[in-house]
Amino acid sequence: MRHALEDIQKQLAALREQIKRYDYQYYVLDTPTVPDAEYDRLFRKLQRIEQEYPQLITPESPTQRVGGASLKVFAQITHDTPMLSLANAFETDEIEAFDRRIRESLQVNAVEYAVEPKFDGLAVSLRYENGVFKTGATRGDGHKGEDITLNLRTVKAIPLSLSGDSVPELLEVRGEVLMLKADFVRLNQQCLEKGEKQFANPRNAAAGSLRQLDSAITAQRHLMFFAYGVAPNSDARVPQDTHSAVLAYLGKLHFPVAQECTVVSGCAALINYYRRIGERREQLPYDIDGVVYKVNTLALQTKLGFVSRAPRFALAHKYPAQEALTHLLDIQIQVGRTGALTPVARLEPVSVGGVTVTNATLHNADEVIRKDVRVHDTVVVRRAGDVIPEVVSVVMDQRPKNTQPFIMPQHCPVCGAKAVRIQGEAVSRCTGGLFCPAQRKQAILHFASRRALDIEGLGEKLVEQLVDHAIVKTPADLYQLGILALANLERMAEKSAGNILTALEKSKQTTLTRFIYALGIRNVGEATAKDLARYFGSLDRLMDADIDSLLQVTDVGPVVAQSILDFFAESHNKEVIERLRASGVCWEEVPGEANLRPDTHFIAGKSFVLTGTLPNMTRDEAREHIEMHGGKVIGSVSGKTDYVVVGENPGSKHEKAVRFGVKLLDEDQFKALLQSF
Ligand code: NAD
Repeated sequence: MRHALEDIQKQLAALREQIKRYDYQYYVLDTPTVPDAEYDRLFRKLQRIEQEYPQLITPESPTQRVGGASLKVFAQITHDTPMLSLANAFETDEIEAFDRRIRESLQVNAVEYAVEPKFDGLAVSLRYENGVFKTGATRGDGHKGEDITLNLRTVKAIPLSLSGDSVPELLEVRGEVLMLKADFVRLNQQCLEKGEKQFANPRNAAAGSLRQLDSAITAQRHLMFFAYGVAPNSDARVPQDTHSAVLAYLGKLHFPVAQECTVVSGCAALINYYRRIGERREQLPYDIDGVVYKVNTLALQTKLGFVSRAPRFALAHKYPAQEALTHLLDIQIQVGRTGALTPVARLEPVSVGGVTVTNATLHNADEVIRKDVRVHDTVVVRRAGDVIPEVVSVVMDQRPKNTQPFIMPQHCPVCGAKAVRIQGEAVSRCTGGLFCPAQRKQAILHFASRRALDIEGLGEKLVEQLVDHAIVKTPADLYQLGILALANLERMAEKSAGNILTALEKSKQTTLTRFIYALGIRNVGEATAKDLARYFGSLDRLMDADIDSLLQVTDVGPVVAQSILDFFAESHNKEVIERLRASGVCWEEVPGEANLRPDTHFIAGKSFVLTGTLPNMTRDEAREHIEMHGGKVIGSVSGKTDYVVVGENPGSKHEKAVRFGVKLLDEDQFKALLQSF
């Protein structure tokens, strides 16, 4: 037994030491090395063991104190009223227990709570004497903080003086200094350009900026402040009844108070608020890591009191962390449609932001080298909103022995072709082109995608099988597929095979824009495809174009022009196109802007308005016809409009056209006009 207690004591000492080190890195140096979730896990472990063995709790334990030490370079300020931490919880049942505890100790049926975002910044206390900002301090260890008055004076959201007749002689405002997400991105971009170290997140950027020795630097950093309370104050000018009244009062004194602060009643409403703010978390201009619930009535707050480091009347309900620690099992190279080789981290599965993550992007070789990410490292993974998960950093002090720096392969891992990196580009590319199965799959998926040839049902799994079994090598092979070849594939019944064939047949009737886009020429997206179709009007003219004529097209510069020339210079690309045409893939061709001067076709430069439903043409198709012939489609009818194309159930545009005497066309007349040149 004695032995066991000694072991526990050793375990506690190790945990406390580890937390102490993380506290120092986080609170004093503003450069944490592990994600908050990892810190929270260790902290909770320590709390659990101490609960089980209360006799082993020491006053120095991190569970008994707030925050960290102060930087010696700043003078110290003693807080008249301590600045505490908050108890926190993740699960609904913990919130229910919190509400139950409060109801029981207050002997009431329902409690009114002030609910607020939990700002992920740095707590500060601002002291106003007779309405003048005198001193400002960090939380420090809760009792003594750092005097950062000069730096706080540069934060524009903090009023330097207060006016009105409700200003007390003494007021201590408590709140959070933070950096808005947009300012954080801008700051890190500047750091990157200057070759300086980037900040891990907006909280560290805010803390680092505020704890500067030179307040001129703080002034350049665009910090924001939100007030969330005052130190207890008996002056009758400060509201004495509720926390929400205090916030409203602070708002009147021109302190920023978040719009999301409100009052709700009962536990279900707390959970509801948590969900509502959670849904908007990504859109908020600042980072939050949870929401805070506070008993609204101040007299009840006093009655509930405090435990060692946090008030009993408040609770932070935290969201799943957006960062987590895990092991990097391998770095693999993924090959994209245009041959871009992307290093991808294969990870030991880890839950980040409520989703299990097994892969994360490492962006490109330079990023891997800059972060020095190695196989078998412990890494910090971030997943925020719908953004692809990424490896943020490595926990260096957990690096095992004998790891090797990452080397970008010189050859494509799928087809073995040489990988090249063009000067000035961040990515290496496989030179295998459509001979590379990886690029082939991506190229076929792109060809079939909704905005290209729109072949319904031709998804990733199917394309994978078709390419792996060498049934399909190029998009042209798709149109040679028979029901038998398809139905023999895994998970493919005859009916779905039939559907694919129907979809393929339907896709043959397309437009020049879609076809050009579907070819997957590097640097030619949908908008460029549209410009090219409009300018050349025919595929052959585009294929024969030289650099000078390509450069005439809107938004086409030398890089795009060269990509187009390279693509059509490849004989196998031309062959694929010929086979596609031979299988019946077709579109309407027109003279194109290149051959149309305003005097050669009377539609060129003319304005059209579309109204009502045309019997055989969608509005998008009509628009495309007009634009391909050099005309333009506008939204409303005026005396200057040249034509109004009228379908069934036309709107007021029809009446207006009649009023202005604009020429009206039905679908047949419209088609005749297009064909009349
Ligand atoms: P906390 O940040 O979880 O909660 C208390 C703080 O919340 C207050 O001091 C205040 O600054 C802030 N807050 C934000 N909005 C508020 C509002 N509306 N009302 C009241 N307060 C509000 O606790 P803490 O003690 O400041 O810090 C502990 C946390 O810091 C840990 O849970 C961990 O996430 C992080 N930490 C991380 C590391 C690391 O190495 N990654 C190290 C130490 C601490």
